[in-house]
Amino acid sequence: MRKNIAKFIFILSALFLFPFSSANAQSADLIRVGIYYGTTSKASVALNAEGTIAFADDYSSYNSVKAEYNSESGGMSVYNAENVLLAEFSKNEPCVFSSDCGWLGTDSLSYRGQIEITAVSSGLKVINILSLDDYICGVLPNEIYPSWGEEALKAAAVAARSFTAAKVKSTNHSGDGFDVCTTTHCQVYRGMGTEKASTNKAVQDTAGEILKYGNTIVSAVYSANSGGYTEGSENVWYASTPYYVSKPDPYTEPNTWTVTYTSKEVEQKLSRLGKSIGKVQNIRIDETAPSGRATKLTIVGSDGNYTLTKDGIRSFFELKSTLFTITSNGEVVKSLIAAIIEMENSVESGAFKIPSLSGSADVFNFNGKGYGHGVGMSQWGCKNMADMGFNYREILSFYFERTSIEQL
Ligand SMILES: [Zn+2]
Repeated sequence: MRKNIAKFIFILSALFLFPFSSANAQSADLIRVGIYYGTTSKASVALNAEGTIAFADDYSSYNSVKAEYNSESGGMSVYNAENVLLAEFSKNEPCVFSSDCGWLGTDSLSYRGQIEITAVSSGLKVINILSLDDYICGVLPNEIYPSWGEEALKAAAVAARSFTAAKVKSTNHSGDGFDVCTTTHCQVYRGMGTEKASTNKAVQDTAGEILKYGNTIVSAVYSANSGGYTEGSENVWYASTPYYVSKPDPYTEPNTWTVTYTSKEVEQKLSRLGKSIGKVQNIRIDETAPSGRATKLTIVGSDGNYTLTKDGIRSFFELKSTLFTITSNGEVVKSLIAAIIEMENSVESGAFKIPSLSGSADVFNFNGKGYGHGVGMSQWGCKNMADMGFNYREILSFYFERTSIEQL
């Protein structure tokens, strides 16, 4: 970047004048959201705002600028709306844009806070830097129905804030240069455009509040529907956690679902994983948690077995939850045919015996309840509790036992 001395002076003054300016982007109050990176990196990014756009050491007089990737130098050039070159940046040199209106628009979405753009090998990497609460405002409408009761939205705001604060400290994206991505991998975030007045109010009413267990920020996971029974983390992912308790959830009315697989379809799924166990003959649940969720399942094949555990069962069969039973309609028909043949043979040979009823199935019905892993808060239970008159503190203490609500 040109004008390095001017930049240094600007940063020094910014530190005194604007405590949350770009120079202070590492503050614990700020979160870095990866918008475009890796394969989604851009060749050019246009920014616009209602106010004046500032970047690096320059407060421009423009309310729209454009950053373009230079594939020859590997750097980035910034132009105004009339295509006049304003500044150039070398590869890996970040530039932070902001506006005095508090947000910046891109080609598709608008974002509160600042936008950091860096030229990297794959193109322009774009990161949104904003306060944790502003980020939660952009998350909440994508994670819960904004029409739900006020206390339900407040409980969801505290849970989402805790989840994010715990995730920022984790290593989810440590090698990527940001804290969270915008997909379900972290939380769905669509910027300022999807914000709703009701969810923004819930964020404001619970400003800065998170859930803590002792000194630990609770990751406060949630799923859509517990199926009427919450689950302990040890039965889904990893070791037990004191605040994720398996217990009946009278506030969640279970949704029901059925998914059907033929043995051929299961064989194809196995083959995509490079596994071959011959013809799939049976699928059996070996172990369940007290909630009834399957924790160990075996696919029985003619040439071997394949065993799945915990949440791996849900992802393999693409099920809504692991709270299910299996019925196989092929088993009855095949067993009866085999039994009749066996009985006829035994009568003919003069040595009548009761035939065995074992046989293989080729159609499997998974009959389930619930939606999601079932650990932590059930969103539909949260909604119902709010409708019944519980406040957000009561809702959170039901789903996250032994935790307290504290300021971050
Ligand atoms: Zn992520």
